[in-house]
Amino acid sequence: MTPLHIAIAGCGPAGLAAALLLHRDGHRVRLYERFETPRPIGSGLLIQPTGLAVLERLGLDTALKAHAACVERLLGKAVRSGATVLDVRYSALGTPLRVGLGIHRAALFAILYEAVRAEAIPVHTSAEITGSELGANGQRALLLADGRREVPFDLIVDALGTRTPLAPPTGKELAYGALWASLDWPENSALNPHALEQRYRAASIMAGVLPIGTAPHDARAKAALFWSIKGADVPKWREAGLEAWKAQVRAVWPAVEPLLEQITDPDQLVFARYAHRTLKTPGETGLIHIGDAWHSASPQLGQGANMALLDAWALALAFREGSDVSDAIAIAIAYRRFHVWLYQVLTAFFTPVYQSDSRLIPFLRDRLVGPVSKVWPAPGIQAALVSGLVGGPLGRLHLR
Ligand SMILES: Cc1cc2nc3c(=O)[nH]c(=O)nc-3n(C[C@H](O)[C@H](O)[C@H](O)COP(=O)(O)OP(=O)(O)OC[C@H]3O[C@@H](n4cnc5c(N)ncnc54)[C@H](O)[C@@H]3O)c2cc1C
Repeated sequence: MTPLHIAIAGCGPAGLAAALLLHRDGHRVRLYERFETPRPIGSGLLIQPTGLAVLERLGLDTALKAHAACVERLLGKAVRSGATVLDVRYSALGTPLRVGLGIHRAALFAILYEAVRAEAIPVHTSAEITGSELGANGQRALLLADGRREVPFDLIVDALGTRTPLAPPTGKELAYGALWASLDWPENSALNPHALEQRYRAASIMAGVLPIGTAPHDARAKAALFWSIKGADVPKWREAGLEAWKAQVRAVWPAVEPLLEQITDPDQLVFARYAHRTLKTPGETGLIHIGDAWHSASPQLGQGANMALLDAWALALAFREGSDVSDAIAIAIAYRRFHVWLYQVLTAFFTPVYQSDSRLIPFLRDRLVGPVSKVWPAPGIQAALVSGLVGGPLGRLHLR
């Protein structure tokens, strides 16, 4: 295909990775972002072997590993009984190199954004996108909140995340979200620096700690502390004050005390809302939705950023193979549709196991899932599940 004029909307992992890949393939790419200075929001996340495979192709895996914490295990315990109800080891995949990489969002963002800047890809900041307009020739213009209408593009890549204005509203916000804080990793504590650990009381209370490596320009190792809470209860949480909340967390998990000591202001905690939504039609004339703009879910299986990176890779592959823009859009969607569908279904299934008001589901989880998960072949299946490898997404995309 001849070089195309492409607008990429959004500087999250999906948009930045797509910009790099399409630019390297010779297309004329422009990025648009609402922030004056592009920046990530939130704390940390887990890069799985799927996301890492894309970062390897981008040549950014070494930089990522330099900042990341190696996560070998996901470990969840019920508070009341002390029973282990989640124990997933990446080593069950049988490949010693397979781990999860806990990463500070700012570090992931900086690695991708610096690569974009180094390759002189134009980034339009303070550009709040409100919609797009299809012209008679199949090209599309971007509409901005300040009334501007950007020159038509051969393709607009919507990587605006779950609340994208470029797609019709769909799906639903979940009652439960979580409070997240990025804190210094406490040396000499009982917390495991190589595990994502969680504690549960039924499914209505959950505390978690994820090692997230180092942030840019700060050599100290960090931890993400998260606390499950309903969106509707956040004002009550603020009113009750920090000490009341800390007492609750301490009662569930005393070992997080050195993290709680670092929290002196409620604004250190950011509330993250979760939504489950999947677009039925992720492609239109001259427009494709990728990452959270196509599909978003609660982070129970920790796949969102990894799926965003896979979508970006699939898009680049499709534009190498397609005969024209419409053909390439169809190929990109075909590459990803099954894996997206599978993980959306799996995440919707697992979310109430860890975040819901149900009494029955956590009862079964604590008595059945823990013991059964230790019996072959469950360890391998669970490890493949959290790695994002179920459904074979890598082979289909010619990734390792
Ligand atoms: C608390 C939490 C924990 C998570 N943990 C994990 C995890 O462990 N592993 C994992 O893989 N995923 C995790 N996720 C999911 C992951 O963060 C998302 O799936 C991922 O960020 C999606 O990337 P994206 O590029 O599609 O969208 P986003 O990261 O949402 O990026 C969208 C970009 O578009 C910009 N933008 C939005 N609207 C406009 C507009 N109108 N005009 C201009 N710019 C706009 C935004 O500023 C942003 O830069 C988690 C999510 C949350 C909330």
